Amino acid sequence: MPNEEWSLADFEIGRFIGDGKFGKVYLAREKESGFVVALKIIYKQKLDKYRFHAYLRREIEIQHSLNHPNVLRLFAWFHDETRIFLVLEYAAGGELYKLLKSLDHFSEKRAATYIASLAKALAYCHDKHVIHRDIKPENLLLDVMGRIKIADFGWAVQSNAKRQTMCGTIDYLAPEMVEKREHDHAVDNWTLGILCYEFLYGVPPFEADDQYDTFRRIIKVDLVFPTSHYVSSEAKDLISHLLVKDSSKRLSLQKILEHPWIVRNADPSGCCNE
Ligand code: AMP
Repeated sequence: MPNEEWSLADFEIGRFIGDGKFGKVYLAREKESGFVVALKIIYKQKLDKYRFHAYLRREIEIQHSLNHPNVLRLFAWFHDETRIFLVLEYAAGGELYKLLKSLDHFSEKRAATYIASLAKALAYCHDKHVIHRDIKPENLLLDVMGRIKIADFGWAVQSNAKRQTMCGTIDYLAPEMVEKREHDHAVDNWTLGILCYEFLYGVPPFEADDQYDTFRRIIKVDLVFPTSHYVSSEAKDLISHLLVKDSSKRLSLQKILEHPWIVRNADPSGCCNE
């Protein structure tokens, strides 16, 4: 699957965008078309160190096969002696996590727009039998129109040292995953409930000082809605129907899209530039 037609010589390299555990990301332009992309450069040596090759390959194959407006495109990849290059859609709006931190929490309109977009993206993935299992704000990017993009199909999971407390976090995991029981696509529906809460309150619902407490709160579904600021009862209703321990009773992705809070608040274009 590596696209042998491409090489580094096809790209003009622009500004440095950011660092990941396995390499660096640069803005780049394909010389012939002028098309702007993000070029992720992964050092093979670092992959060797973490015995990551097979894992990376599988995740690249998954992301490459997906084509949805709310899933970051992986257009192509190629490699040389020492590096692997991923030609990615450029998400000019940057990390959702940073926006959330700067705004403290999102408006209901913004939160609903993102949740609806994610529900659509996940429905598309589930149709293709892809379960994400690791959706969290660090894995979400924004494009120039303010549309949300799922940016990471797992392989960078272990590369994330961005949030100290997030390193190996279990905050986004469904009860069946933390309890190491069998799980299916419904883990992603649970995570949408966690994200919806975090978008509206600024912190994930089961956050605790140590992982054991988070674990305990997740398996008890110890859900508390703070009174620090107003959040509509419709939003809380949606969250409560996603954070359900019995995975078969969680709201389906289709039902999320039909939920009154989503219908009332989500921008159908998926764009959010309030
Ligand atoms: P990563 O290696 O995925 O952790 O990415 C390192 C940095 O580059 C992070 O700050 C990301 O937000 C940024 N980044 C990664 N991919 C893209 C992309 N496709 N568009 C824009 N920024 C990106």
